[in-house]
Amino acid sequence: MPFASVVLDIPTRAIEGSFDYLIPQQLEDSCQVGCTVLVRFSHRSAVGYVAQVKDEPSEDVAASKLLPVEQVLAPSAFDRVGARVALWMAREYACPACDAIRLFLAPGQNVKVHRAAEGAPWELVCDRAGAVDDRWVSLTQKAQDFVPAKNATRQRELMAALAAGPMRMAELRATMGGVSAAVTALQKRGVVEVTQRRRVRGSEGTTLSSAQAPRPQHLTQGQVRALAAIDQARTAGKGDVVLVDGVTGSGKTEVYLDAIEHALDQGRGAIVLVPEISLTAQTVGRFRSRFGDRVAVLHSRLSVGERFDQWDLVRQGKARVVVGARSALFAPLADPGLIIIDEEHEGSYKQDQSPRYHAREVAAQMARERGCALVLGSATPSLESLQRCRAGSWRGASWTRVSMPERPGGSALPDIQVVNMAEQFHGGNRSIFSAPLAEALQEVAQKRQKAVLMLNRRGFASFLMCRDCGCVPECPHCSTALTYHERTHTLECHTCGRSWPQRAYPDPSTRCPNCGSRYMAAFGVGTQRVEDELRALLPDDVDIVRMDADTTKGKGDHQRLLERFDTSACAVLVGTQMIAKGLDFPEVTLVGVVNADTTLKLPDFRAAERTYDLLEQVAGRAGRGDTPGRVIVQTYWANHPAIQAVAQHDRALFEDAELAERQEANYPPFSRLANVVVWGKNAASVRSTCDAMAHQLRERVGERPGWEILGPADCVKARVKDRTRRHVLVKAPPTADLGPLLSECAAAIGQRMGMNIALDIDAYDMM
Ligand code: ADP
Ligand code: ZN
Ligand code: ZN
Repeated sequence: MPFASVVLDIPTRAIEGSFDYLIPQQLEDSCQVGCTVLVRFSHRSAVGYVAQVKDEPSEDVAASKLLPVEQVLAPSAFDRVGARVALWMAREYACPACDAIRLFLAPGQNVKVHRAAEGAPWELVCDRAGAVDDRWVSLTQKAQDFVPAKNATRQRELMAALAAGPMRMAELRATMGGVSAAVTALQKRGVVEVTQRRRVRGSEGTTLSSAQAPRPQHLTQGQVRALAAIDQARTAGKGDVVLVDGVTGSGKTEVYLDAIEHALDQGRGAIVLVPEISLTAQTVGRFRSRFGDRVAVLHSRLSVGERFDQWDLVRQGKARVVVGARSALFAPLADPGLIIIDEEHEGSYKQDQSPRYHAREVAAQMARERGCALVLGSATPSLESLQRCRAGSWRGASWTRVSMPERPGGSALPDIQVVNMAEQFHGGNRSIFSAPLAEALQEVAQKRQKAVLMLNRRGFASFLMCRDCGCVPECPHCSTALTYHERTHTLECHTCGRSWPQRAYPDPSTRCPNCGSRYMAAFGVGTQRVEDELRALLPDDVDIVRMDADTTKGKGDHQRLLERFDTSACAVLVGTQMIAKGLDFPEVTLVGVVNADTTLKLPDFRAAERTYDLLEQVAGRAGRGDTPGRVIVQTYWANHPAIQAVAQHDRALFEDAELAERQEANYPPFSRLANVVVWGKNAASVRSTCDAMAHQLRERVGERPGWEILGPADCVKARVKDRTRRHVLVKAPPTADLGPLLSECAAAIGQRMGMNIALDIDAYDMM
C-alpha cells in the first residue's frame, strides 16, 4: 500500500517537516505528488500538500498507526523536484514549509480549513480559480437546406451571422436581442449546435512594432561566445551558471531568444524572469514574435483568471516558454533546459515577505535539481555573482562570466561630465544647479530639445553633510553612514546602535569632524524645489513634467505624464529614481543627475553598488537617437569610485574599491548577512523580544570564527504604522548554514503576544 508524505498547511514553527499518511485504495490514482489533500492532524481536519508518494512509511512510524488521506482537494501542482526545492527553501530561508510550497500552487487556489470563532466547528473553504469554457454556436450540415419560417426574423439573422463562421454565445447576446430563444429553436431542429470550448485568458498580444524580434543577420562576437557558453552549460545538465555581462543595448535579449530556441530544439523548455517593471508589452512581444503560442506570461497585473489560464497552459505542456516576474520561477514547466534571469542585480528579485527568498539563489538550486543551465544577464551584475564567477564555482556548480562590451553597429556610449558641487559652493553658487548643468539646460531650451533630470529620492534617513568638504560622518565600527536625528541632536548608527551628540547648521556650535567647517547641514532637496528653480531658469514655453510619488498617485498618471513628455516639442522631465529605468526617448539629448550622493550615503552596505547601478542606468537614457547625448552628474564626491567608474566607463574602478571595503568590513559577498527584525505595538515588548533574540544568537554563535552579532538597534524606519521596529544583524561565513540556526533561535524564544519576527536571510532591505 502506498504512503504519502504530507506537508501540513499550518504555518507555525512548532509543526515542522512532513507527516506520513496512508493512501486508501480509492485514492491511489488521484493522490499524487503535488496534490492538495485533506487529512486529520491532532484531532482536527487539516489541509496539506503531498511532497512524496512512497511504498514504505518513514522508519520511525508504524504503518498500522497511520491515518488515511481523506480527500484530494486539488490536482497536482508540482512534481517531486518542485517539492524538494520547496523543502530546501524552507530550510535555507527559515520559513514554514507550507509557505514555500504555496508558491508552487495554481494561481487563485485558496483551500483551507477554517473556523469562524474559537470553539466553532472547523469548515473546509475551497476557493479555486478554474478554467472557463465558452459556449460557441455554429451551423451544422442541415443548415444548407433549412429555411426559417417567414416571421422568424431572429433565426434568419442568426443564420446569416453564423454563415461567416462560429461565434461565441456571449458575443451573439451582446449584438442581437432575443438571440437565446432563436438558438434554442434552431438547436432543436438540428440546424445549429452549441459546443463548449476552453478559453485561454491573458494571451492577448500587442500591435506595437517595437515588440517584434527580427532575427539579426549576424551575431556579434560577444553574442556568439555567450550562446556557446550557455549551450555548453545546458548540455552539461548540472546547474552550471553563465553570467552574460553586457552593456545596455549589447543584445542580451537576442542571446536569450537564440538560447531558448536551442533548448526547444532539444525538446526542453525555458523560464525567463524579468523585473516586474520591465515586463512591458514590448518585452513580452519580442518573445511572442519568436515563439508564438508556446509562450505563457505570468505577472501580477494579470487577473487571477488570466494567471490561472497561463499557468495551466504550462502544466498541460502547451506552453514551453514561461516569461514572467519573480514568481514565474515556480511555474509547472516539466523539463526546463534553461532558467534565465534578466537584470539579475535587481533588488526586486528578493521577496520582502515570507518566504524571503532570492530568485537567483532558488533558481540556482532549481537548476541543479533539474539538470539545466542558469543564465544571468545584466549591464551591472551584482557583486555576489561577479565574485562567484571569479571563484569559478559555487555550491558545486560552475560559474562563467561572458562579457559583451559592445553594442551591435557600434553606437557610442554617451559623454559623461562630473561636476564637483563643493567647488561650486566655494565659487559662491548656492543654486541646486551647477553652472555647467544650468548652461546645458538653457541650451536644450534654445535648441528646442528634451532633457531628463533625476533627483535621488531622499529616502527615509536624513544625514548631515559638510558643504565645504563633502564629508558625511560614518560609524567607525560598521562603515555605514550615520543618520541625523533632529529631535535629539544626535547622529545614530542603525547597525550597531551607537550614537553621538551633534548639532546641525545653523547652530553656532556645529563643526565638520573632517575640516572644521561650520556648514554641517542636513541634506536633501525635493522635486518640487527643482521644478521651481527650473521654471525660474528656463523660458515659459519649455514644458516641465514632474514625476514623483505625489504626481503619480492615480492609476494611469505615470503613463499620462510620459505621454505628455513624449508629445511636447521641448520639455524637461524631472523625477525620482522611477524615471531611471526602461525609459526610451530617442530625442533626449541631456540627462542630469541633480544629487548623485543621496543614495551613496544611505545606511546600507549596498549603497554604493545601488548608486553605481542607478547612474549607469540613467546614463543609458541619453543619446539613444541620432543626436549624441550628454550626461551631467552633480556630486560632492566627485572622486568616489562609483561615480568615477560611471564617468570613465570603467567598472573595475568601482568594483575593486568596493570589494576591498566589503572585505575589510566583512560584508557580502565575503560573508552572509541576516537581518532579524522585531516589530509590534508595545515598544517595551519589542525591546525585550529583540534582546532575547540577540541573546539566543550570541549563545549559539559563541566565538565561532567569521561570525558577528550586531545590535540590537532601532531600525532606520524605527516606527511604521504605529509599530516600533528593532533589529539584530548576523554576519556569518559565506558557506554558513544560516537558516537552521535562525529557526532554532526563533523557536527557542517562542511565540510572543503581538510580536512579529522576520528572519531575513541574505537581506537586501536594511532599513
Ligand atoms: P539588451 O537586452 O542587451 O539591452 P537588446 O537585445 O535589446 O539588448 O538589443 C538592443 C538592440 O540591438 C535591439 O534593437 C536588437 O534588435 C538589436 N540587436 C541585437 N543583436 C543584434 C545583432 N547581432 N545585430 C544587429 N542588431 C542587433
Ligand atoms: Zn568638512
Ligand atoms: Zn555602528
